[in-house]
Amino acid sequence: MLRRMNQFLISKKSIPRKCLTVKGTVKAEYEWVQIEGVPCQVMEEIYNDDGEYQGCILNSFTSNPESRFKVAAEELEEHFEPAVVNKEGFILGLQKYPGGKIHSSEFLKRADVQQIAAVFKRIPNKDLAAKLEQTLVTQGSTHAATIPAYLDYMSGAKKLKSTENFGDPIFNRHKRWCPPIDIPFEEFKASPSYPAPIGVRPKDFCLPSEIISSAVELTGQMCQFLNSDAELTKYLQTNILDVYSGGAAAALVPGPFCCKWCNKVIDANCCKAEYKSATNYIEICHRDPNDRFLPRNVYWGHGDCNRRQGGYTEEDRIQDAMTLLKYNPEYMKKYAAELAALLA
Ligand SMILES: [Zn+2]
Repeated sequence: MLRRMNQFLISKKSIPRKCLTVKGTVKAEYEWVQIEGVPCQVMEEIYNDDGEYQGCILNSFTSNPESRFKVAAEELEEHFEPAVVNKEGFILGLQKYPGGKIHSSEFLKRADVQQIAAVFKRIPNKDLAAKLEQTLVTQGSTHAATIPAYLDYMSGAKKLKSTENFGDPIFNRHKRWCPPIDIPFEEFKASPSYPAPIGVRPKDFCLPSEIISSAVELTGQMCQFLNSDAELTKYLQTNILDVYSGGAAAALVPGPFCCKWCNKVIDANCCKAEYKSATNYIEICHRDPNDRFLPRNVYWGHGDCNRRQGGYTEEDRIQDAMTLLKYNPEYMKKYAAELAALLA
């Protein structure tokens, strides 16, 4: 049951493994490839000369599409369970993922995410390129067990004090499409993976298709900045919008693009290295800092506006303003005409 080509298996726990090189030899370094609850695709079945099944070669969803690791036949049952794919192409039984399923096409879309990353890297303005990199990786937890520390813990070489906590369920930087995890430490300790990390913060979670849509949104906005550089616009249009927007580029709101906090234009001239505060001029902002990295929530806004928002949601700030008005009649009087005009 666990051996058919192209079948999907679900990892029962996170453990580091050594991947294969292009030539098929085993790499020296361990990597976090097998992650609890994550589907893997069977890329190759291995048989010996007598035709006996020896194991298989897998590609984990949370690795790059070309990454491979080998699992021996006798390990399969302990580490994996088979996943069912329904007739619409959804991989089912993924309890760690929202709705318990992922469309199998998400495996292929990882290559598009890699392609987009390469396009971002070639943007001549290194500051903007670095900001766009946020689209691709999680910030993560620095408390996560590193692979050497994990191996020491498992071998008994690392001893913990009775009061010492070790590890964290959240990876320190990994693919956004690791399972979204929000569990107390005690639950993590009881998980089969402990102390290996198992996922990303829910607000960092994004499937490859969702990352693509956010990348399209953000690059579309860049093309609409006031004074946007013609060459950069053409580059983003050709390499991202024309390829991944599915016609959405044509529906872009005519520019110039405005910051959603202050409604003032974003001026591409202020993003240039010569501009004295170019690094802080714009940021990728979140309308709700606890919501996900999706087009509805992310936009290019002024760095100053982002700092004014200060980690609160837009609605938090609206509530603050309402409270101040409600309990300070002098403000209410001062702003009554402006409020009436807003409501008119
Ligand atoms: Zn602004």
